[in-house]
Amino acid sequence: MENYFELKLLSISENEKFARNTVAGFLVPLDPTLSELDDIKTAVSEAVTNCIVHAYEKQDDGIITIKVTTSGNRATITISDEGVGISDIEKAIMPFYTTKPDADRSGMGFTLMQSFMDEFEVSSGENKGTTIVMTKIIDNRGIND
Ligand code: ATP
Ligand code: MG
Repeated sequence: MENYFELKLLSISENEKFARNTVAGFLVPLDPTLSELDDIKTAVSEAVTNCIVHAYEKQDDGIITIKVTTSGNRATITISDEGVGISDIEKAIMPFYTTKPDADRSGMGFTLMQSFMDEFEVSSGENKGTTIVMTKIIDNRGIND
């Protein structure tokens, strides 16, 4: 099954829950297990939270774009912002690396996205925003067919 949707959201924390539940709801027809769905929800939640707290730190009118494409049992989720960007991606994705240690951040967002999804890629440019592309293979697809 091929399918697609795109969503633009204001960068306010109220929208994090909406984003993760919308992506999960869209993927239900692929028949994911609860555990697969939880992995996807966590990854989306971490990526959207990063847009809100890092990309648009001093702005409450930033736009977060979420695109989801499905192809067979592959779900590809793209989450992008037009915020401050990341100067050193290699460093940013390291476990426990955070630029906000004082704000209850543990530096584990990217690590969670990487471990819960099957493919993960970050591209970013200073003041040009950041794009995260993550793919999950829904293994359970078709098991009840
Ligand atoms: P946690 O996710 O555990 O609450 P964190 O957000 O600091 O903490 P990561 O999600 O792993 O940890 O991100 C690591 C660092 O990468 C952040 O501290 C921030 O400096 C940078 N970063 C992540 N996402 C973005 C983004 N969308 N725009 C700009 N900087 C980002
Ligand atoms: Mg984070």
